[in-house]
Amino acid sequence: MDLITQLASMGVTHFSFSGGEALLKDGLFDIIAHAAQQHSRAIEVSDGLLHNTVKWPGLSLLSNGRLVDRSVVDFCRAHSIQLSLSLPGLRTFGSLTGGDPDLVIEAFRLARRAGVFTVLGIAVTKVNLPELYDTISQGLLAGADTVLLNRFLPGGRGLMHQDKLQLSSPEVLAMLDTAEEVLAAADRRGSLGTEIALCQLPQDRTYRHITVGSTCAAAKSFFVVDPSGYIRVCNHSPVRLVHCRDIDTLPQDPYWQGFVFRRYLPAACSGCDVGHKCDAGCREAAHISCGVVDAVEPGYDVRPFTTSSQPT
Ligand code: SF4
Repeated sequence: MDLITQLASMGVTHFSFSGGEALLKDGLFDIIAHAAQQHSRAIEVSDGLLHNTVKWPGLSLLSNGRLVDRSVVDFCRAHSIQLSLSLPGLRTFGSLTGGDPDLVIEAFRLARRAGVFTVLGIAVTKVNLPELYDTISQGLLAGADTVLLNRFLPGGRGLMHQDKLQLSSPEVLAMLDTAEEVLAAADRRGSLGTEIALCQLPQDRTYRHITVGSTCAAAKSFFVVDPSGYIRVCNHSPVRLVHCRDIDTLPQDPYWQGFVFRRYLPAACSGCDVGHKCDAGCREAAHISCGVVDAVEPGYDVRPFTTSSQPT
């Protein structure tokens, strides 16, 4: 809890609690309630001026939904916590998670009745892509307020099944097209949480309902404290940086600096006109697959833009 107090005083304005499964953590509600009482001190820009601000931190709880009951949604409502629930498929849910998608659907309904803002989280793989339209539809019908897609990234146990799970470049586009179609039909908005290289996106396609990013926010807009208390640039990173008790030394950490100053673009991107707004996909996915952070993500070709071919 002391760390949460310290981070709020250092300018952290949003705390997300995840796992594993966060709801299995003893004392989780005490920790989140403590975060809810903090005053986040930060500097914000508005109207071209810097302003010192003090406000309550935003709070998010990420869960697989199995343990979400009335007490959980009441707690979320009481502390204005955004509840993010994972629904990676319907018919494929059991084979991917060993669980029952109806529990997650019911958790969305519970949250909607309680007035809790919810996020439908879907890690999209080769396996569940064919039913993505139905999965998003069911989540929205059950009450999800917005959708957060993530394409499968190699790591952990998933590394053993990378070839069966990782989307190809055309499948990534199919994922985006499907999400755009269902979100447009429902007049809702969503986003893709994993950045995509600009040269992977067709220049003639516009996504109005799903936000697709091409830059990595790790170490710029967020970071992660892992279960052992070490800081990582993101939840996907295999690299433990400094322990949180030494957070004051973090700005000097070379790996941290590499992300802050974007010293990680693949050599194949050199000379690209849009390199200032593209991180060539997920750098940690490339790191895990290839052993170095400035590799090209396997399966994705990079094609530098020149002035004549620059996307609009
Ligand atoms: S060449 Fe590299 S920097 Fe340029 S759009 Fe492709 S991935 Fe991004």
